[in-house]
Amino acid sequence: MEPFKLHMLGTGGGRFTMITQQRRTAGIRMVHGGTDIHLDPGPGALVYSNWARLSPQKLDALVVTHCHPDHYTDAEVLVEAMTHGTQDKRGVLAASRSVLQGSDNFDSSVSRYHQNLVKEVHVLGSGSAFEVDDLRFQAMEARHSDADTVGLRVGVPEVGSIGYTSDTAPYNGLGEAYRGCRLLILCVLRPRGKPLKYHLCTDDVLRILEEVKPGCGVLTHFGMSMLNAGPEEEAAYLESETGVPTVSARDGMQIILGEGIEVRGSQKKDEPRLIEA
Ligand SMILES: [Zn+2]
Ligand SMILES: [Zn+2]
Repeated sequence: MEPFKLHMLGTGGGRFTMITQQRRTAGIRMVHGGTDIHLDPGPGALVYSNWARLSPQKLDALVVTHCHPDHYTDAEVLVEAMTHGTQDKRGVLAASRSVLQGSDNFDSSVSRYHQNLVKEVHVLGSGSAFEVDDLRFQAMEARHSDADTVGLRVGVPEVGSIGYTSDTAPYNGLGEAYRGCRLLILCVLRPRGKPLKYHLCTDDVLRILEEVKPGCGVLTHFGMSMLNAGPEEEAAYLESETGVPTVSARDGMQIILGEGIEVRGSQKKDEPRLIEA
């Protein structure tokens, strides 16, 4: 089995975490064999890809779920890297309509010049799908202040499905959208008792984990109030309430899905956590 690896290059979300860089906002690099994908490249994506020795020139695809800066700012420079300094017409750019075309409230966040550099462009809307090598991506509904926002489901041969909620309010059917996911990554901006419109807080995630029952839940995209509450404590609470192994992501953490799920901390001294799921 070819394992599927997630590099949590950034785990911060929302304006003040981004502005202060209390947590990085570099997004997630996904690697499966020789296939490399960057998801939601916010500020720091270029710098921390290089820092983690994950050359952005090896990217095969770039996925941007919506038109907020903590998700899109480094998209254009990653397109330049993916196309080997604009020399080769290659790679996939898949993004919400707002990111590619703009919408009522947003100008497009990837220029036409950059969109023309890549080989394939996919406009994502709820239900649309595309493939990158043997990985199958499906866009899922999200309800966010950018109305074009999408979540994602990634189907990996032999490994199973990985879900990513992106920024969304909880809605009826969200659990259904991610049912059967072995790993579910949740953008949890807020802790218990501190909900914010258009986002998930720990209380929402409790209900989602109970409904989806993934093999493992991963919390990320932390706002300041979540960081103050302590994401580790929130993850421990969710795990004890739901029985779903729940990990609070850290910058530089790696999650490897193979026969089981292995969570490697960012530092050598961190003991890896092995989850049978
Ligand atoms: Zn966000
Ligand atoms: Zn957002």
